[in-house]
Amino acid sequence: MVPDCIFCKIASGQIRAEYVYEDDWVVAFKDLHPIAPVHVLIVPKTHLDSLNEAAPANEAILGRLLAAGRQVAEKTGVAAGGYRIIINNNRDAGQEIFHLHLHLLGGRGLGPMLAR
Ligand code: 5GP
Ligand code: ZN
Repeated sequence: MVPDCIFCKIASGQIRAEYVYEDDWVVAFKDLHPIAPVHVLIVPKTHLDSLNEAAPANEAILGRLLAAGRQVAEKTGVAAGGYRIIINNNRDAGQEIFHLHLHLLGGRGLGPMLAR
């Protein structure tokens, strides 16, 4: 738990969010400013600033994040139609919250993957 980290506070229940999934390792909740009909953030309960801080000892967490993504896709009804999972990592990717998270987007056609 890192003081002043908003996702640590959400994961520990200090700040409210609309949860869609939780297990011992991960919480998933709706993004406050969704850019798609389904826009869920999937967050490890352990604080890591970004993927850059993920050490070999954290590899289980990385696996759990993707597995939770799959669960969230099923639960929100986008698994069959399709969805995209994104990690913004550091400045050039526009990372705003420095607690590692996946964005899961779906519920509409998402267009080509890369902006050119
Ligand atoms: P990043 O740019 O760091 O990858 O994404 C951060 C995301 O967190 C943004 O999409 C933003 O809308 C979302 N967000 C920021 N603060 C909150 C909050 O307090 N609650 C929720 N549910 N989402 C938040
Ligand atoms: Zn945190």
